[in-house]
Amino acid sequence: MTPSPQYRRVILKLSGEALGGERDYGIDFEVVRRVAKQVKQVHEMGVEVALVVGGGNIFRGQAAAERGFDRTTGDYMGMLGTVINALALQEGLEQIGMPARTMTAIQMPQVAEPYIRRRAVRHLEKGRVVILAGGSGNPYFTTDTTAALRAVELEADFFFNDT
Ligand code: UDP
Repeated sequence: MTPSPQYRRVILKLSGEALGGERDYGIDFEVVRRVAKQVKQVHEMGVEVALVVGGGNIFRGQAAAERGFDRTTGDYMGMLGTVINALALQEGLEQIGMPARTMTAIQMPQVAEPYIRRRAVRHLEKGRVVILAGGSGNPYFTTDTTAALRAVELEADFFFNDT
């Protein structure tokens, strides 16, 4: 008999920088594959997994503001960056047979489902990995704050932040 896992539902925050690996900008697909494999292993232990992805490998609103760019616009650009990362992870997971759903706090129905808490829970219960993109949907926040918020909302019993 497989021992029951210590945690029932976990939220993992994955920073954009982690996904970028050694690169200054963009996505390292080797990292994506490695993370996907690890997430699948955790899932196979019977743990429901939701991932909150960052976007720092693509864009940060604050860094743009320091160079005289509008902060709010920069933050939205950062949030869009998280969606790009989320899609890469979704692809990495599904390529190894791990069903995954990206849900975004910024609506773009052609690309990903909107984040709706009860739907996210349903996906988790059905054994899909949920990838939470678009940050909180609000400028002046970070994906770290988003991950803490989602952990509470989704009643996760473990929260891991890679930063
Ligand atoms: N961001 C935002 N609101 C959020 C989450 C993120 O405005 O709720 C923007 C912000 O500009 C941030 C960028 O998206 O710098 C990327 O997110 P974050 O810096 O948290 O990514 P990480 O450091 O985890 O890669």
